[in-house]
Amino acid sequence: MKGIHRGTLWITALVLAALLLAGCERPEIHRERFFAFGTLVELNVYTRDADLAREGADAVRADLARMHRDWHAWKPGPLQEVNQALARGEAIRADPAVLAPILEARALSLRTEGLFNPAMGRLFALWGFQSDQAAGPPPPQEAVEALLARDPDMADLHMENGRLSTENPAVQLDLGAFAKGYGVHRAVDHLRALGIEHAILNAGGDLRAIGRPGDRPWRIGIRDPDGQGVLAGIEIQGDEAVFTSGDYERYFTHEGLRYHHILDPRTGYPARGSRSVTVIHEDAGLADAASTALFIAGPEHWPRIAARLGVDKVLLLDATGVAHMTPAMAQRVAFRKEPAERRIQALPGDPGPAGGP
Ligand code: ADP
Ligand code: MG
Repeated sequence: MKGIHRGTLWITALVLAALLLAGCERPEIHRERFFAFGTLVELNVYTRDADLAREGADAVRADLARMHRDWHAWKPGPLQEVNQALARGEAIRADPAVLAPILEARALSLRTEGLFNPAMGRLFALWGFQSDQAAGPPPPQEAVEALLARDPDMADLHMENGRLSTENPAVQLDLGAFAKGYGVHRAVDHLRALGIEHAILNAGGDLRAIGRPGDRPWRIGIRDPDGQGVLAGIEIQGDEAVFTSGDYERYFTHEGLRYHHILDPRTGYPARGSRSVTVIHEDAGLADAASTALFIAGPEHWPRIAARLGVDKVLLLDATGVAHMTPAMAQRVAFRKEPAERRIQALPGDPGPAGGP
């Protein structure tokens, strides 16, 4: 009787000790790095459960690899099948994996007055940006003009009875300005579904974060377009995505001039006037498309397009070094390198702080 009692006590003590130990295992940041979407991806998960962090990293890696294949503009896959059908003037029942991002990209394109125009795959190809290495030279002016005359646009794309079609065979879809944001958003949704609450998924400087690592916020840096350094730091508040489009991401130099990969659909040439645009928004796909569109809109017209997109946190660094910002963004950025000037501009339709002019 006495022996049994002592045994039970021992087991109870052991179970208690094990429970205490498990409870004491402190949450920490689990970091994984891998290549996806043609860039270095870093996932940080804050948890006490190392197995869960590993499961999350495997899920994200698989998701991004699959999406990159599905949405590739110039390699075989479902997007290429859509493009081939459109070029032949045929309607196509698109793979659901590409249909959803195509329809969302179309809606966003219309809200940017066509500045974000993923129907211009032919133009991006002409410039050599539909290749792993764009080397120049620029295409002949006549070729650019001939394509602009055919005016491919997302409004030319129709969805009827589950089929995509267009009356404009110049339409070729390239989701390069949107796919990373759309994909990162869904990959982080997947982490959430697995039970991960605190994470940041960073794909080459573009990211979506959820939760926070303990009692401090996630902190990130925005790259200085003039080098590898950091232009400004941002503290993430809750669930947010931060996306940047810059003229330094992909470009070639020809006869002393630099040609980058963000093309103005109105001219067919690289957009001038901006060096980089950063957008903070809860929807990573929207933030990605917006950063591209606002880059093209440039230092004069970006507030109108931002208002149409419902984006209230924008930083545009222009070609003269001036930092244009919305009031909400100005409160969030901590510059490490002081810009030539800070210009804070409320969006049209935004009355600004109460009592203001
Ligand atoms: P990053 O590649 O740095 O994420 P963006 O998100 O701005 O930059 O996307 C640039 C890519 O989007 C280009 O490589 C090209 O494939 C495509 N693109 C270029 N100009 C446009 C445009 N006006 N509208 C939509 N997509 C564009
Ligand atoms: Mg973009």
